[in-house]
Amino acid sequence: MKYRTILLFGAPGAGKGTQGKILGSIPHFFHCACGDVFRNLKTDSDLGKVFLEYSSRGELVPDRPTIQLWHHFIENNTQTGRFRPDSDTLVLDGIPRNPAQAEMLQDTLDVVAIFYLRCTQMEDLIQRLQRRALKENRLDDANIDVIRYRQETYERETKPVLKFYGNKLLKRISADQTPAKVLFDILKHLVKV
Ligand code: ADP
Repeated sequence: MKYRTILLFGAPGAGKGTQGKILGSIPHFFHCACGDVFRNLKTDSDLGKVFLEYSSRGELVPDRPTIQLWHHFIENNTQTGRFRPDSDTLVLDGIPRNPAQAEMLQDTLDVVAIFYLRCTQMEDLIQRLQRRALKENRLDDANIDVIRYRQETYERETKPVLKFYGNKLLKRISADQTPAKVLFDILKHLVKV
């Protein structure tokens, strides 16, 4: 059985986490932010160390351990009843993050919509990340060179995921708006899916 899934897509700082958290609080939606799953690892565990090594450089963690960890997270949440695959829609944020991951998840996900949060002002994104660094104590947001490298990684490795899924499922949403307006645009489309 494949999981009914919506993908939140966009550059670092576009607001995927903000929207994902809100959507995940609606009954029958389950939010999974891949970055949060990584950040919840113990920093002295093998994968925790790998995560710190890659994320502090602004690079993606290698695909195989990423997908394994993700499966593990979903299975745990299914077993504890937080995620109910037969009645819930998965809201994914930060995964798949390159076409290889999309391929690896093809037999697992039934993607019904992709919300592409588009921000026209790169400098706005950078400012949002720098504010978040202070609030959430994130090392990868604290350094401007790492932020810029993350944006390049997004352009080079993550954006091609859009081509993988094609245009039919894609809904472009302006991320330059307030979070409430972004949510409104997502929900307007979501009720039709
Ligand atoms: P952002 O969207 O701001 O980059 P995330 O919390 O989604 O923040 O991700 C932080 C870091 O975690 C990424 O830069 C990357 O190193 C790692 N990461 C998160 N998701 C994935 C993934 N699906 N594949 C590989 N690395 C990931």
